Amino acid sequence: MHKTMADTPSSGADHTYGFGTRAIHAGAQPDPVTGARATPIHQTTSFVFDSAEHASSLFNLQTFGNVYSRISNPTVAVLEERIASLENGRAALACASGMAAQMAALLAILKCGDHIVAASTLYGGTVGQLGVGFARLGIETTFVDPADPENFARAMRPNTRAVYGETIGNPLVNVLDIGSIADVAHAHGVPLVIDNTVASPYLCNPLNFGADIVVHSATKYIGGHGTTMGGVVVEGGKFPWDNGKFPEMVEPSRAYHGVKFYETFGDFGYTMKARMEVNRTFGGVLSPLNAWLLLQGAETLHLRMREHCRNALRVAQFLQGHPKVQWVNYPGLSGSPFHALAQKQFRAVDGHPGASGILTFGVKGGAAAGEKFIDACEFLSHLANIGDAKTLVIHPASTTHRQLNDEELARAGVGADMVRLSVGIEDVDDILWDIDQALERATG
Ligand SMILES: *Cc1c(COP(=O)(O)O)cnc(C)c1O
Repeated sequence: MHKTMADTPSSGADHTYGFGTRAIHAGAQPDPVTGARATPIHQTTSFVFDSAEHASSLFNLQTFGNVYSRISNPTVAVLEERIASLENGRAALACASGMAAQMAALLAILKCGDHIVAASTLYGGTVGQLGVGFARLGIETTFVDPADPENFARAMRPNTRAVYGETIGNPLVNVLDIGSIADVAHAHGVPLVIDNTVASPYLCNPLNFGADIVVHSATKYIGGHGTTMGGVVVEGGKFPWDNGKFPEMVEPSRAYHGVKFYETFGDFGYTMKARMEVNRTFGGVLSPLNAWLLLQGAETLHLRMREHCRNALRVAQFLQGHPKVQWVNYPGLSGSPFHALAQKQFRAVDGHPGASGILTFGVKGGAAAGEKFIDACEFLSHLANIGDAKTLVIHPASTTHRQLNDEELARAGVGADMVRLSVGIEDVDDILWDIDQALERATG
């Protein structure tokens, strides 16, 4: 279960494999018993012990091995090692959903009385998790405008234990300055946790820019086909957990056999703590079948992301020149206020910063025209998801943000006319055709 990165085929003797090769191979090998080339689905709750001695050494954490699938599972472990490799991380923990992954990432190091500083532009579900769910547990969050890293510095308190942001926000499609915000977090001795869902590991590796922990909703681009819920937490392995602010990382764990996580497991001690004290105890684990489906998605992540980026840029350029469109927001457009940050942090696709598949635009005619546009689409799917191979469309003001009044909508940056597209990988000419005819019908 806990093979080190050196055991995975992410690099050979004097050769480092590229992203596409690792997306297909990292963490996996032909099954030693059957020779099966594809990763088997180990649909089992439990694993037989070799002997009484083997069993007790597993329970004492002296030997690595599988006991029960709430702690670890060989199929899930392949996904964990694969995403750790794609994020240039040290170790990973898979969870039942993106929300479960965020919860595990934060509850591994936070307790009642602690404080988080987070970007105000986070995914709505995350605003609820931190602002309401964690608040009930006595963990308070201050939300700050992420445009200026100084806003994070101003909100830090003596009891702050994590800084939280998203590489690309949703639905604002704003790009975070990861390096500057990591500097703020580190100056205060706390880790930076980055939700990298929208960029995916192909376009950005936040650990390379100073983040300490990365979380993903694998439900989106990693799975890539709108079929499977899942989440992943990835640890960079460089954060100094013995800096005095995280006594539970260094003192004996009351929740797990008195183990000292940082001393015993070092650069993957945080992942072990999240595994043993959060997933094992709170139970939000990924099923083996879902791990397998997400692995299937991961194998084409590099191909799909390139196509998502190409199609989204074409769509953004088309909308920019369209007489029925008021405004377009896409960091891949050279006129975007986030273009320079996108260039710095994101992998280039065809010479442009690869800014993923999410963009927003305003239809002339406001909320009514926005709603009509959605109804007029032929094959664009009206639903509340992103990161599917299929192009998805939603009008936030009448759906996901329906309960907000005009003032709250403005504060969330969601205009009444805003339409959000998750541009898929269909033929781009067909996507442009559907958008064009729907704009005609919505405003004509
Ligand atoms: C969807 C999403 C989540 C939540 O993930 P689930 O898999 O739906 O639980 C978290 N963050 C972002 C940016 C998302 O898009």
